[in-house]
Amino acid sequence: RSVAELDAALVDCRACPRLVDWREQVAREKRAAFRDEEYWGRPVPGIGPADARLLIVGLAPAAHGANRTGRMFTGDRSGDVLFAALHAVGLANQSTAVHRDDGLALHGTRITAPVHCAPPDNRPTPQERDTCSAWLRAELALLRPRAVVVLGGFGWQALLPQLAAAGWEVPRPRPKFGHGVQVELAGPWPLRVFGSYHVSQQNTFTGRLTPAMLEDVLRAAAGAAGL
Ligand code: SF4
Repeated sequence: RSVAELDAALVDCRACPRLVDWREQVAREKRAAFRDEEYWGRPVPGIGPADARLLIVGLAPAAHGANRTGRMFTGDRSGDVLFAALHAVGLANQSTAVHRDDGLALHGTRITAPVHCAPPDNRPTPQERDTCSAWLRAELALLRPRAVVVLGGFGWQALLPQLAAAGWEVPRPRPKFGHGVQVELAGPWPLRVFGSYHVSQQNTFTGRLTPAMLEDVLRAAAGAAGL
């Protein structure tokens, strides 16, 4: 099937009862600032072209961000940082993403998450991560990216076992997550995996992750992907 067919199937997924309850409860109750908006309240598919060579793997949709707008990282502060950096390195046509029809276009890049539904406290359980990993595996197989940027340790823990299961030679013990870590993997096709601290407010407000740090990783990954 195609990436578009994968996305169409994903938005109907109800495999994780706790996350289905939470995403729908948030969508009903809303935050006061968005009370006039209709929340998405469903699984949020990846965004970006179906032939993207660079895949960015985050964590999960934010309750009042992507769970509201229906598009990854769109409408929250984490996204503000990510899209500004993507635009700075030439991977996005604009530096902001506020709603799903704002004209955003990504160049050769797709953004996805190991968990596609908003979790309470931004913390999916290991079981939810494992359940949703089937979607990540399918997306990887369809996309065949040359490079992956993983935002944060959760995504790293989610992705590497999937790559190992799909035939990549992931060293044991597994490479540790860190900002700026790069791992070149042999497997069904050559793949380079990059680690970056997550674009969460916790990291960006404290200066643990600066725009320059994020741009450096994105630039290196774009180069590895041939973009
Ligand atoms: Fe389905 Fe993933 Fe959402 Fe769980 S988190 S309900 S597997 S889309």
